[in-house]
Amino acid sequence: MNYENTLAFTKQMDADDPLKHFREQFYIPVINGRESIYFTGNSLGLQPKTTQDYVVDELEDWANFGVEGHFHSTHPWFSYHERFPGLLADIIGGLPEEIVVMNQLTVNLHLLMTTFYRPGTERYKIICEAKAFPSDQYAIESQVRLHGLNPDEAIIEVSPREGAHCLRTDDIVTAIQQHGKSVALVLFGGINYYTGQVFDMQAIAEAAHTVGAYCGFDLAHAAGNIELKMHDWNVDFACWCSYKYLNSGPGGVAGAFIHQKHITDTALPRLAGWWGYDKATRFQMDKGFRPIPTAEGWQLSNAPVLSMAAHKAALDIFEDAGMENILAKGKLLSNYLLFILDEINNGLDEKMIEVITPRTESERGCQVSMLMLQKGEAVFEALKQHSVLADWREPNVIRVAPVPLYNTFRDVFTFGQIVKAILTTS
Ligand SMILES: *Cc1c(COP(=O)(O)O)cnc(C)c1O
Repeated sequence: MNYENTLAFTKQMDADDPLKHFREQFYIPVINGRESIYFTGNSLGLQPKTTQDYVVDELEDWANFGVEGHFHSTHPWFSYHERFPGLLADIIGGLPEEIVVMNQLTVNLHLLMTTFYRPGTERYKIICEAKAFPSDQYAIESQVRLHGLNPDEAIIEVSPREGAHCLRTDDIVTAIQQHGKSVALVLFGGINYYTGQVFDMQAIAEAAHTVGAYCGFDLAHAAGNIELKMHDWNVDFACWCSYKYLNSGPGGVAGAFIHQKHITDTALPRLAGWWGYDKATRFQMDKGFRPIPTAEGWQLSNAPVLSMAAHKAALDIFEDAGMENILAKGKLLSNYLLFILDEINNGLDEKMIEVITPRTESERGCQVSMLMLQKGEAVFEALKQHSVLADWREPNVIRVAPVPLYNTFRDVFTFGQIVKAILTTS
C-alpha cells in the first residue's frame, strides 16, 4: 500500500473501506460543538446505537414478567450468559465451552489465579511484565500475600533492556528458563497498555509449560483488537474486559477463558458460587459443590443481565462486521498513522515524536504510543481544542487508538495535520 498524506487519499480509502457503514452504528461524542475524533476506544469503546434497545428490552421484560422472567422472558435470564461464548469464540480464539462471560476483569483475574496459582515450597514464583497495568500488579501482589509469601521474592518482573521501551520475547523466555522449577505461574498482558506492544503469547505459553508452570493472559487491550488463538496457543487461562475495544459500556461485564484441558477437571480448586453449579440440579440446593464441566463452572453469581444486554448489542456488531475484516482495517489504519507520524518527523529539523510501539505489524494492534520529545503538552492541548480525544500518560506519552469499527482514514489525516501544525510553529 502506497500511503499519501493528503485529504484526497483518505477520501478514497474511506470510500473503499468495506466497514465504512459501521461508523453510523455508533454514537460519536460531540465536543466543542463538533463531532470528535475519537481515539480512545482502547480506554472506553463507543456506544452502539442499538445498545439502548437491547437494555430497554430487558427492562421491559422485568416490568412485565417480574421473577418469571428468569425462565419466561424473551431471552430468559437463567441462561442469558449462554448467548456469548459462540460470539466470543472468534474474538478470543477459544472453543465455546472454554469461554464464560461473568463479573469484572480484576475479579476474574483473582478467580483464575485462585485456581492456577497454587504455590508450594519449591514452586511459588509468578513471572510478569514490569509496569503491568496497576490493577494487575495489585492483584498479583495480594495473591502472593494471601499465600503468606513475600512479593519481593515471589514476583519476578521482566523489564525492557536499557534504553528500550518494549520487551524482547527472548528475554521473557530466558527469565522463565532461569527461574525454572521455581515458577508457578507466568502472567502477562496480551498487549502492554502503555506501549501497545503485543506479546508473543504462544512462545510465552510454551516456555511456561516447558518449566512446568501455568500460563495466563490479561487480554484487556487485546480482545477485539488483535488476532487471538487462546486454544491453539495452549494458554491455560485468560480474562478480559468488555468496555475497551468490545464497546460494551463502562464497567461492563467481563469474560474468562479456561483451556479445554482444565474445564472438565472438576477437582481443580476454585472459589465457588451457585451459578457454577451443575444446571440440572442447581435448584435442588443440595450440599456440596458440583461444578459445570465447562468454563461456566467458574461462575459465582447469577448474571448481570442489563450489562449483558449491552454486551450482546456490541458483539452482534462484531459478528456482522467479521473479525477478519476488523483486523485487516485495523492494520491499515495503524500503518497509516505510523506513515503520517514519520512524514511529520521527516519534515522537522530534529525528530520530535518517538513511536514507542513496535514497528513490526504482528507486535501491535490499533494503539500507537507517541513519546513526545518536544512540545508534548502543546500538542495534547491542541488536540483537545480540535475535539480530538487522545490519552495522555505521564511523563510525556500520547496514546492514540484508531479503531476499525468507527474511525476513518480521514480521522488519522486530520490528527496528523493538527500535530504537524504545532510541531512546525516555533
Ligand atoms: C483496563 C484494564 C484493567 C481494568 O480492570 P477492571 O477490573 O475492568 O477495572 C485491568 N487490567 C488491564 C491490563 C487493563 O488494561
